[in-house]
Amino acid sequence: MKKICVLGVTGSIGTQTVDVVKNHGDEFEIVAMSAGHNIQVLEDIMTQITVQHICVQDKHDKLYLEGKYPHIHFYDGVDGLIQIATLKDVDIVLNAIVGFAGLLPTMKAIQAHKDIALANKETLVVAGHLIIPLIKEYHVNLLPVDSEHSAIFQSLNGEHHQDISKIILTASGGSFRDKTRAELENVTIEQALKHPNWSMGAKITIDSATLFNKGLEVMEAKWLFGVDYDNIEVLIHPESIIHSMVEYQDTSVIAQLGTPDMRLPIQYAFTYPRRFPLIGGKKLSLSEIGTLHFYKPDFERFKALELAYKAGRLGGSMPCVLNGANEQANSLFLNQKIKFLDIERLVEEAMNAHEWIDNPSLEQLIEIDEWARQYVLNRVGED
Ligand code: NDP
Ligand code: MG
Repeated sequence: MKKICVLGVTGSIGTQTVDVVKNHGDEFEIVAMSAGHNIQVLEDIMTQITVQHICVQDKHDKLYLEGKYPHIHFYDGVDGLIQIATLKDVDIVLNAIVGFAGLLPTMKAIQAHKDIALANKETLVVAGHLIIPLIKEYHVNLLPVDSEHSAIFQSLNGEHHQDISKIILTASGGSFRDKTRAELENVTIEQALKHPNWSMGAKITIDSATLFNKGLEVMEAKWLFGVDYDNIEVLIHPESIIHSMVEYQDTSVIAQLGTPDMRLPIQYAFTYPRRFPLIGGKKLSLSEIGTLHFYKPDFERFKALELAYKAGRLGGSMPCVLNGANEQANSLFLNQKIKFLDIERLVEEAMNAHEWIDNPSLEQLIEIDEWARQYVLNRVGED
């Protein structure tokens, strides 16, 4: 029985993880989980599975829950996340928290010898240089949950790293893939939140529309698979059937295909190297689909992608600035404080204003993240 701690259980990835675990109750058990502020969804999950250790963000929510469920251990805040992620009973931590907030619990879980199933890509973007050495030092497994990275991971099974020629990350192109730059000027939140192929949390759906999500994924791929930026290519593939590919030096290309369903990469992170039935999963029928399309991304229209390659190549503190500024700008757009194209403009301005440092420590990353958010807030007069 694999014992799992799910961070961010109330979100899109978190609730799908609960589904996967319920479908294979004889193999997996959630022994600890965390929510943010969505106590209603948390209580709904508590009716479906019995979990003894639960963390929430807010102390008041903890007090409310303790009064209602006296037999369960409740925790709160960042300390609480670290406590449940490092419990003796936990074998693997699935991190589905959104944003920079996922970094510290991931590091502490690795140091407590837990395997990590990582959906929280922001952790690797800002701190890949700290996380990858820790993974090696503590001899734990880092299993990708992001669908593209799971596809690459699967396409690397049994292969030799030195034979890789390049990684091809596919991208649906998000909600606005067919719009011109001029048309992007006045797009609304409602339009941005309508992703053509995937139903996901709000932050990543906006990131998919700007293509910052793909930019973050390029950096995530660099750290996960140890490949140079020159050998990571983004390919727009509107149908989201090929989830990503690896090209080898003999020109062979190995890809992983399937109908878009995040439960597959979540489940594979738990079953690897085995494969279990995906209960309720829809089988791929290529004859039904008929045609798949591919084209190169336009780096002028999708400025975010260019910024991400730039930040990734510079390395050091720059990915943290890109990420922090993007998190803040994304949230301002969601709150109708700025326009869609302001997101990439503000990120670029923050990157230009930043005094770059090499090899930032965790403490420095926390400061830089805060600086980038504050910079964006100041620029739009929201401080
Ligand atoms: P959601 O917004 O749906 O869920 C986020 C979860 O994290 C919720 O449980 C939320 O709690 C919790 N949370 C948010 N902020 C904090 C915080 N500061 N401290 C503690 N908990 C917090 O996001 P998704 O599930 O869509 O995405 C999660 C991660 O997975 C992201 O990094 C995303 O990029 C990645 N990912 C997601 C995919 C998807 O299909 N959704 C695909 C690939 C990667 P609450 O809601 O209770 O407040
Ligand atoms: Mg992805």
